[in-house]
Amino acid sequence: MAFNNLQQGRRRLLFWQEELLNEFCQSQGLVLDIGFDALEPLFGDICPVHRVPLERARVPVVHKGRWAPPLDVIEARRERFPFANFVVEGGCVVVAGEEDYAETSYCDRCRVELIEWNRGRKEPYGLPPEDFD
Ligand SMILES: [Zn+2]
Repeated sequence: MAFNNLQQGRRRLLFWQEELLNEFCQSQGLVLDIGFDALEPLFGDICPVHRVPLERARVPVVHKGRWAPPLDVIEARRERFPFANFVVEGGCVVVAGEEDYAETSYCDRCRVELIEWNRGRKEPYGLPPEDFD
């Protein structure tokens, strides 16, 4: 089961995660009475869309000012490639001496999905800078 969605700000299980957990507990005759904080470390980082383990990588930090992604981007990211993470979005102010790269988790299949989704888009989103490999 993938429990890592909390990394994106939620501190609770998603509905389908609760369902799976409840089904499992019922099938085992268990009563689960612990909070989310106790559950979190028991499960590795797994992509909630593709259900595969996340990898770690150093990626560029990009600064986009006050730019906020349009709704279709937010929805696509959530449903198709939540852990593409070719880049990390930094704040709108670039601080002198701040790292240009950051360590992050990513999912290989999200990256493939993001590249596919960007095909033909006028304004590409979330792809690595051209000079990064
Ligand atoms: Zn994924």
